Amino acid sequence: MLEIQTLVHTMRILLIEDNRRLAQSLTRGLRGEGFDLDAFGNAEEGVNAFSALHYDAVVLDLGLPDRDGLDVLGDLRKARNEVPVLILTARDSVESRVMGLDAGADDYLVKPFAMTELAARMRALLRRPGQPLATLLKVGNTELNSAGRQVTIDNKSTHFSLREIKALEILMRREGQVVPKTTLEDNLNGLNKTATQNSIEVLIFRLRRRLGLYGSNCSIHTLHGIGYLIKEN
Ligand code: CA
Repeated sequence: MLEIQTLVHTMRILLIEDNRRLAQSLTRGLRGEGFDLDAFGNAEEGVNAFSALHYDAVVLDLGLPDRDGLDVLGDLRKARNEVPVLILTARDSVESRVMGLDAGADDYLVKPFAMTELAARMRALLRRPGQPLATLLKVGNTELNSAGRQVTIDNKSTHFSLREIKALEILMRREGQVVPKTTLEDNLNGLNKTATQNSIEVLIFRLRRRLGLYGSNCSIHTLHGIGYLIKEN
């Protein structure tokens, strides 16, 4: 059975917060709690990221340089987007809290707050009913549970790093088809363009080694200059 803790811990969060120092500490803190996170300092960049990538929850500051966070939230809800949103606000008045909840926020925290508090609230939000069910991917004797981020080979549990599991998931979703290197980069690095093509090669190298170690009967093939493909041997 899928453990909820595992499910919650690999969720991807979009943070929109213009206070650089706070954004950095939230990024460190939430990553330390096992969340995957992309951070942006203004509404425009945040909204662009949101429309381009999948996020499981949004942490939204209300006082942003280009737009009011409440407007951003209002737009999301008008578009019938039900992503859980937690607002961060320095506006410690009853009205602003009520306005936030009226605008469709799921929760809010008033600054300053403890990191542990935010992490606990995020877990609670992500535990709400209506979470998409796990997808079980299977190639040969290798199974990957996309929500639990678990890999089983020959019905035995394994230990893969989160990045390795993500790369494997992307490949397994397109079994027998070429996955361009750039697709792997985009998905693995979010919008933080830190990793190079070289690091994808290193990742695939490790992934292959680990699949071999656990006795997987599928292989990752390299198509030079194009990408990778996974299939059963
Ligand atoms: Ca702010």
